[in-house]
Amino acid sequence: MSAAPPPSSNPHPYPYAAHPQPQPAPYAAPWGAAPAPVPACRICGALPVSPATVRGHQGFLVIMRFLKAEGPFCRPCGTATYRRMTANTLIQGWWGPLSALITPFTLLANLFARSAFRKLPQPYGGWRPPLDPGKPVPLRPQALLFLIPAGLVLAALTVLMAIGVVVGGDPESTGFTAGECVRNNADWPEQDLERVACDATGERYEVTEHQDCGPADYLMYLEYSANGATSYCLSRRG
Ligand SMILES: [Zn+2]
Repeated sequence: MSAAPPPSSNPHPYPYAAHPQPQPAPYAAPWGAAPAPVPACRICGALPVSPATVRGHQGFLVIMRFLKAEGPFCRPCGTATYRRMTANTLIQGWWGPLSALITPFTLLANLFARSAFRKLPQPYGGWRPPLDPGKPVPLRPQALLFLIPAGLVLAALTVLMAIGVVVGGDPESTGFTAGECVRNNADWPEQDLERVACDATGERYEVTEHQDCGPADYLMYLEYSANGATSYCLSRRG
């Protein structure tokens, strides 16, 4: 039932195929595949090399750039690339919310590349001199400039912690223990507790352990300690 393929109208669609010629293969090894080329430093052509990739990051508000310099690199070229990109990332990588998270990982990944380059011996056989590695990262001006944003972050954290101490450190609302009595100066369920004598007159509550809570008791504040939060109950006494 299948139709035979239509005969080609041109018996020689590839005119040269009608006159096959010997294939020149001057570069192919006579025994088959050519040996794989040995990777050399992509900058200077020297050996030995590491295939490590050096990364960089730039972030400004919502704009981000992921920079990448792929190996192979010889020792001085890799070290120079690592130092340049790491130093630049130190000052360019922090200026966006996501970038501030990405940059530490970028710096960390570069440490692996750096250690790979340090394991290499001095290179030989390049077609040009290798890059000058230059100063180590901590001695570069970018490392000093990095201290400015790092100091800002540290200062912001310090301020936040100070605010937390001031706001959370209300002596009226912490520090009660079971057996003491308190008065609530606010309307339930708001709590503005003040320590009072247990034989004082007026409305007052005794602080009891949570497991001693009765159904008519008020659940009291949480007392924060190093072991977590402890809750107490307030049992009406007057
Ligand atoms: Zn090189």
